[in-house]
Amino acid sequence: MQPGNPVMASTWSFSARGNAAAWVALASGGDPLDAVLEACRVAEEDPAVDSVGFGGLPDASGRVTLDGCVMRSPSRCGSACGLRRHLHPARVARLVMERTPHGMLAGEAADDFADAHGEPVRDLLAPAAREAWERWRASPRGTGDAAAQARDRSLRPVDTGDPAAGALFGAHLRGERRWHAHDTIGSLARGRDGQLAGACSTSGTPWKVPGRVGDSPIVGHGLYVDPEAGAATATGTGELIMGTCGSFLVVEEMRRGAAPAAAARAAVERIGRAFRIEPHHQVAFVALGLDGTVGAAALRTGFLAAIRDGRGERLEPPGFTLRDD
Ligand code: ASP
Repeated sequence: MQPGNPVMASTWSFSARGNAAAWVALASGGDPLDAVLEACRVAEEDPAVDSVGFGGLPDASGRVTLDGCVMRSPSRCGSACGLRRHLHPARVARLVMERTPHGMLAGEAADDFADAHGEPVRDLLAPAAREAWERWRASPRGTGDAAAQARDRSLRPVDTGDPAAGALFGAHLRGERRWHAHDTIGSLARGRDGQLAGACSTSGTPWKVPGRVGDSPIVGHGLYVDPEAGAATATGTGELIMGTCGSFLVVEEMRRGAAPAAAARAAVERIGRAFRIEPHHQVAFVALGLDGTVGAAALRTGFLAAIRDGRGERLEPPGFTLRDD
């Protein structure tokens, strides 16, 4: 582990608020896992963020399910998915990591586990999210036709760079009401002592088939951290990330000597080769090197990483985007 400057790197501009909340403790020598969980907590509690925690859009049946994971190293990681009663999936994932011999708990039993460990029960469906779901159900799109949804460009997140705004979807589509959304908070941190940690938290894709789980709570897909190589997290269309073991791939590229930006680019290019890219697809990776260097790459423009270090907070577009459409 190389001691040095602490840094946080999180997905999307809404994460700047969480980075700020976590920063003082991290900069004073705090645990990077505490920092990434704090960044997730802020997004999870913010009803304006419509893809994480309270405010997250529900599945096709109108129920919100939350997924999250945490990771310090290949032997120190945990995950919880399909939570319906608890607001903080990344925090539940930490409990899985620290209090069980297992790596992942799912569904009703994961909620029961959270109950048993004192996590408060919460109604996850915010009024605005319920209204959005009701509008979707009443619309021609509300048939649950997956092919129609795949053609829906309003599913593609676009970050305007306003950290006060939690919603990323549809703002770029004139006259289009925003009611499709997907994006995840993935947060990476490096402590003053050089330790790395990461966390993800998401409500997954809106109107998803009940039971669908994306990349975010799966170690190696939405998040990967290896103290020997670096850390990476992903956001965007989970199915593309899962098909390429995206975050693991980014970290393996760094292990082979790639800088974080080049490693993230390699994973985006792999997705570009492996999939037929649809109008609604977006994927972005944020990578954190052992020395604290941050890099990002995305399938398309419209992604911003929120980075916090000794120089302050800044929003950075990815160094590479595969497509300009
Ligand atoms: N990656 C998440 C998922 O597919 C959501 C997102 O970031 O779009 O579940």
